[in-house]
Amino acid sequence: MLRKIHFRLAALCTGITCCILFAMSLAYLYISEQGLKKSSFISFQNDMNTVISNMEQQTVITHEWLTKLEDNGKYQINLIDNGVPFLYNERNDEAQKERFAAAWDYFHSHFAVTPVLSPYTTWHIEFPFSYHKEEYYACASVSERRDTVFQALILFPLTSLERQIRLQRFLFLLLDLIAALALALFSWYFTQKILRPLDENQKKQIQFIASASHELRTPLSVILSCASASRISSGEEQKRFLSSIQSEGTRMARLIDDLLLLTGSDSQNLSCEIRPAELDTLLLEVCEAFEPLASEKKLKLSVHLPEKILPPCLCDKNRIRQVLEILLHNAISYTPEDGTIILSLSREKHAFHLSVADNGIGIPDSDKPHIFERFYRADSSRNLKEHFGLGLSIAAGIVKAHRGQLLVSDTPGGGSTFTLILL
Ligand code: ADP
Repeated sequence: MLRKIHFRLAALCTGITCCILFAMSLAYLYISEQGLKKSSFISFQNDMNTVISNMEQQTVITHEWLTKLEDNGKYQINLIDNGVPFLYNERNDEAQKERFAAAWDYFHSHFAVTPVLSPYTTWHIEFPFSYHKEEYYACASVSERRDTVFQALILFPLTSLERQIRLQRFLFLLLDLIAALALALFSWYFTQKILRPLDENQKKQIQFIASASHELRTPLSVILSCASASRISSGEEQKRFLSSIQSEGTRMARLIDDLLLLTGSDSQNLSCEIRPAELDTLLLEVCEAFEPLASEKKLKLSVHLPEKILPPCLCDKNRIRQVLEILLHNAISYTPEDGTIILSLSREKHAFHLSVADNGIGIPDSDKPHIFERFYRADSSRNLKEHFGLGLSIAAGIVKAHRGQLLVSDTPGGGSTFTLILL
């Protein structure tokens, strides 16, 4: 699914950027070609002004002058004296003669206005002309010389200009193709980077659903088997089955509550009623509530409070109580008999530090980065029935909603210390 989206997104990005690129290249090419044609026509007109004024100064037009003017095929010249073609033109082949005839026809049909001539002045005009798909600039001139009308037609083939335009087009196409390739690679990489969090999120969700289903299946199967067994049993045995059903049902209800809380923290919907709260009182209350459980496990539970009275902290007292309960419950679970658990409160740089330190089994460094993940349980705790591996992720979600921090470190001498920092 994400692969498909990735491919489509990359294709869309590449398609749009390439369209813009090609449109811009075409516009640039068009403007540049127009400029090239205009400047080459102007330079042809300038050349023709020089040639015509040169021609005006010649009393006799010589063969050498014409050959020099032709400049190795740069220009093609056709001269007509009083309606009779110059002998020089006899060198032209049939194709060339036809081309000149077509150019003269074009000139006569398009520039029908007869110029007013004064002796020894030459009237001339330059125009673009195409013959059999070949492009030319043409210059037609008419002058009066010793009672005769002298006409000249000079053709300038645009082969070099066309070659230049073709080369420019080819280079642009090549550059556009390279740019399109680079854009495709970039889009592929860029969209992959954008979609990576989505991909990771999807994987996490799948993992979460799989783990939640797995955790729910265990109490459910106990409930079902106890229910069917209680039907065929009676007396004390039936009571035992019913009490198992109740305790597994309670376990399921707690797990569902935890899952709902995590879903709320995921969608930023974790409700927090922020009010000023006295953390020292809260710590004492939590300690008092866990005292029986701690003494049941023969653990020493104590509270360290600062000597000075601390100002109230802006937080949701009940949620922070929930975090402390999770930490304390874990500390009691993972500390062997005769261990010590210390709850402490301090204020450092305007932040409240609440910590739960135990001298229990501790958390290996390799497990530390994972303990806040959902359903993560270190191997040693897998057989603890009331632990789903959700406690710390719920605590982290609540702390995140308070914009605080939850840190884990080793207790000097062994065990773990969890520190909750609130602003
Ligand atoms: P659980 O419900 O399994 O305790 P948690 O999310 O609260 O899940 O904790 C995740 C894991 O972190 C536990 O399975 C345990 O391995 C480890 N852990 C948490 N607190 C402690 C502690 N005080 N001492 C040692 N290990 C702990």
